[in-house]
Amino acid sequence: MLDQIKGLHHVTSMAKDARENNDFFTHKLGLRRVKKTVNFDAPDVYHLYYGDEVGTPGSVMTYFPFPNIGRGRHGVGEVGTTVFSIPEGTLRYWRERLMKEGVTGLKADASFGENRLLFDGPDGDSFALVEVKDDERAPWTHGGVPADEAIRGFHSASLRLKDGGATEELLKFMGYEPVDSSGNIRRLAIANGNGAGVIDIETLPGANYADLGAGSVHHIAFAVENRAKQLEVRKALVDTGYQVTPVIDRDYFWAIYFRTPGGVLFEVATNEPGFDRDEDTAHLGEALKLPKQHAHLRSYLEKHLQPIEG
Ligand code: ZN
Repeated sequence: MLDQIKGLHHVTSMAKDARENNDFFTHKLGLRRVKKTVNFDAPDVYHLYYGDEVGTPGSVMTYFPFPNIGRGRHGVGEVGTTVFSIPEGTLRYWRERLMKEGVTGLKADASFGENRLLFDGPDGDSFALVEVKDDERAPWTHGGVPADEAIRGFHSASLRLKDGGATEELLKFMGYEPVDSSGNIRRLAIANGNGAGVIDIETLPGANYADLGAGSVHHIAFAVENRAKQLEVRKALVDTGYQVTPVIDRDYFWAIYFRTPGGVLFEVATNEPGFDRDEDTAHLGEALKLPKQHAHLRSYLEKHLQPIEG
């Protein structure tokens, strides 16, 4: 069993409208936009990153807004709900805030003894806020949500699978341990993680496969401290028979990707070098940053990407 993985690093989804997406995460949820760049593999669309002050791994929600994309259809073989951690006793604040902001899909429930508020993202994305006692992570507090209520980072993500068995075995290999189960959901958690250490596997044998589109998660990334640990994880996965990409430079982290047995795309990303490698912490996410391979496209992109400020 591996011990290099510390929980989630980021969750990356698809959206239709960049401006609406930016407004939802910065204004409605009060996260900080920590990077405005482009999809390195399709540079005519943005890659927007939202998180805490510096985009600490375990807090980072990222989006590819494709202006012409259709709405996704939820099903199995994908990430189900992405869950953010909020302080104990703040669900009432959040319910009122999200209602006032016109957020849809609001529904309170309890999951594994924790109080949650489910809500939809701008493209029907499935999100929840869950009250967590003593989450020590520091929130971003300049987004309009007071420190006592602000999001601390991710709590968990759920995977909706036709058959969860092989994916559970993989997660155990990656260092997760089964900690609880309820109905068709099995909860796994990582010991000594970064606060975003829970994965729920929801098994739905009769459901249709998802069609990915706006509102769908594209992949989830797991955090390792550095490139040496990432290479250890890569070798272990390859030796086990997984087809893993070479290490790819994403400017703010290094990434490897592999498709899991249940159909979800996993990434393992490094905590180094971080989002402040090319701009001051005070101004993170303000300027359009381009990787060097796409720097020559700047004037074209500045004209053609939808403006998202204001
Ligand atoms: Zn990623």
